[in-house]
Amino acid sequence: MDQLEKNIAIIQENIKKAAKKSGRTIKDINIVGVTKTVPVERIKQSVQYGIIDIGENKAQELMAKYDECKELVNWHFIGHLQRNKVKYIIDKVKLIHSVDSYRLAKQINKEAYKHSKIMDILLQVNIAQEKSKYGMSEEELYNSLSLYAQLPYVRIKGLMAIPPHSDNPECNRKYFRKMNQLFIDIKQKNIDNIHMEFLSMGMTNDYSIAIEEGATMVRIGSGIYGKRTYNIKEGK
Ligand SMILES: *Cc1c(COP(=O)(O)O)cnc(C)c1O
Repeated sequence: MDQLEKNIAIIQENIKKAAKKSGRTIKDINIVGVTKTVPVERIKQSVQYGIIDIGENKAQELMAKYDECKELVNWHFIGHLQRNKVKYIIDKVKLIHSVDSYRLAKQINKEAYKHSKIMDILLQVNIAQEKSKYGMSEEELYNSLSLYAQLPYVRIKGLMAIPPHSDNPECNRKYFRKMNQLFIDIKQKNIDNIHMEFLSMGMTNDYSIAIEEGATMVRIGSGIYGKRTYNIKEGK
């Protein structure tokens, strides 16, 4: 087994345990391999080990890698998305995790219409109310749900969050729990065009805890592909 395969096996084992603790199985959890700074060759290799959902946080990097792997992977966009970049990724991605404003959602709606496509998105919540992070507050989320729901070329598929970076992942349990409460609460409202299917939270440091608290989708970078060669500020 090479290192990549080993890493993935370890993560799958941990996910099984965490899923069990929350009354689920590994089948209920979607793994998104986060490949910023990771070369296409490694992405293709990880596909062979079962990682077919791949996330990038920059439009340019996604575009650069897209053609070589488009038949192999489902692309996810997970970073802050500027409105003028939507047109570059709209026809390439399966899910945009990081919709943090109604203005951005409207732009996605407009570009999706041009491609006769309905774009699946998640709404990003700034759950720890950090100044340095993107995402809407809980209040903003509730106030604008019905607006998002009215966009015909956008389908709301769930929520996403990036809690604070912490060396002790237990510190984030309360945020994951809060996100799950939001997720369940919105699901129960049964709003047309709002499908609470994916709760995207948990990264290399804290995915087990995120799953224990209800995550259905985890975004794992360094845990799969190893340490990134340069430092990217997380959450941007
Ligand atoms: C980089 C990144 C991840 C993965 O981070 P790791 O700690 O390497 O697992 C997840 N989500 C987002 C939004 C990221 O930018």
